[in-house]
Amino acid sequence: LEAKEEFEHKSLAVDVMRPRRADPALAVLTQEGMTVAEAESLVESTRYSGFPVVVSQESQRLVGFVLRRDLLISLDNARQRQEGVVSSSQVLFTEHAPAQAAEAPPPVRLRSILDLSPFTVTDHTAMNITVDIFRKLGLRQCLVTHNGRLLGIITKKDILKHMAQMANRDPDSILFN
Ligand code: ADP
Repeated sequence: LEAKEEFEHKSLAVDVMRPRRADPALAVLTQEGMTVAEAESLVESTRYSGFPVVVSQESQRLVGFVLRRDLLISLDNARQRQEGVVSSSQVLFTEHAPAQAAEAPPPVRLRSILDLSPFTVTDHTAMNITVDIFRKLGLRQCLVTHNGRLLGIITKKDILKHMAQMANRDPDSILFN
């Protein structure tokens, strides 16, 4: 990623992150309370490379980030190899399993595939700082929060697209740099 001065000074993370206002909401998983079928349908109804995991839909507190590929493999494995797992089994990203009814099917525990420290910036972080972090840490995506609530996601491609857009819209500012 190239550092472009004109891009760096003006844009904030909130200008680059998805979803945009008209987009469908950010696709997230909750750390508990989702079934195998619900997790599968979320993954299969989208093409995203990964999903933030939050404490609950209400809180939108970030717990971690899970890659699509890891999630699909683990759910598939659980269905095939873990005794008693069915569509209504709970998917758990928590450290400890909550109490379940005795007759409930066994949960699928997926904390091991969770990245517990995904990189985050706040919505008003300047994009020059964000781009710098992407470059230095070799990030593919980073999450955007406001007051601890998850707001959105920025991928490397989002940054490249935004840079291209800025360059088109404002050619004068490039000439000055
Ligand atoms: P890439 O940007 O490399 O194509 P993705 O396929 O993961 O990576 O993302 C495609 C687009 O969807 C990007 O604009 C990204 O910001 C957005 N996006 C990524 N993950 C999610 C998600 N879980 N929910 C909503 N939008 C997402």
